[in-house]
Amino acid sequence: MTDLLLSQFRPQPKLVVPQSAITAPYRRVIDAHNHLGAFGGNWDQRTPAEFFAHLDHAGVAHYVDLDGGWGEDILTDRLRRFKAFAPDRYRVFGGVDWSKWAAEGHSFADRSATRFRAQVARGAQGLKIWKPFGLHVTDDTGALARIDDPRLDAIWAAAGELRLPVMIHIADPVAFFDPVDATNERWEELGAYPDWSFPSPPFPSFSTLIEAFANLVRRHPNTTFIGAHVGCYAENLGWVSALLDECPNFMVDISARVGELGRQPYSARRFFLRHSDRILFGTDAGPDLATYAIYARFLESEDEHFNYGPGEIPGQGRWHIYGLNLPRPVLDQIYYDNAARLFGL
Ligand SMILES: [Zn+2]
Repeated sequence: MTDLLLSQFRPQPKLVVPQSAITAPYRRVIDAHNHLGAFGGNWDQRTPAEFFAHLDHAGVAHYVDLDGGWGEDILTDRLRRFKAFAPDRYRVFGGVDWSKWAAEGHSFADRSATRFRAQVARGAQGLKIWKPFGLHVTDDTGALARIDDPRLDAIWAAAGELRLPVMIHIADPVAFFDPVDATNERWEELGAYPDWSFPSPPFPSFSTLIEAFANLVRRHPNTTFIGAHVGCYAENLGWVSALLDECPNFMVDISARVGELGRQPYSARRFFLRHSDRILFGTDAGPDLATYAIYARFLESEDEHFNYGPGEIPGQGRWHIYGLNLPRPVLDQIYYDNAARLFGL
């Protein structure tokens, strides 16, 4: 018996179990976490007419584009073309330009809040905080910024005053903070994307980041935070559930985490039922039909042991997932109602 290379392992399940015929969500959805640019499928290169026709085909009623950023170019382009074409079906979020902290010093947060208000005046409808916050963003002294740094309060307060949500992505999968060795469950993924590895030191530990994130949410009860990717901690639904219980201003989306949710189907089903009014549908994969099909199968079916990715080898780890068979009223909340309430649709 010789060892087989992991990259050549292609086990074919021999299970004989019932399988649903679900190929799309059963109803129209709001995709609350997505992009138009590069990793969303380059839809920003297409015409708005093509894009919205595709959304019709995909059954997407409303699309949240988080790409607005902090410069003016992308936001202007998205507002001028996509928002103007279908104002009721599309929204784009703004951002914070952390690179200005060094030069602006003490006035950085106030000026960032002012810049965000200007983005909102032009049409932005939320604030997206990207992953570098906590991992790479530095303050005016060059030190790594803490996620719950009180010097930044004006930014979060502005979003609350404007009644616009902050979509925030903190840290990354827990295993990205572990050594990249034979015990790391994301070994193949980290091999493919070495810059997704955040060993501590020099990076803060995962627990440091996630606890600072929880503090941020606690300290700003008048601001709604959407924790991207199941509250940034899909591996620990008990932790996310406790923060949802504690903080009414906290919501989560399920984007890019059906692989995590679907490998813990009992815990995930309890989580969806308990917090059915706080969970947003979103995929983070562009308006991709194959991805919507997988999410629908996960949420709606009782299918067992299926691939959570569109490729032959699932990208986040070599496991399979199980459908949750959620009740229709819960599906309606997650697919549409929660986001409609949040966005005033
Ligand atoms: Zn995203």
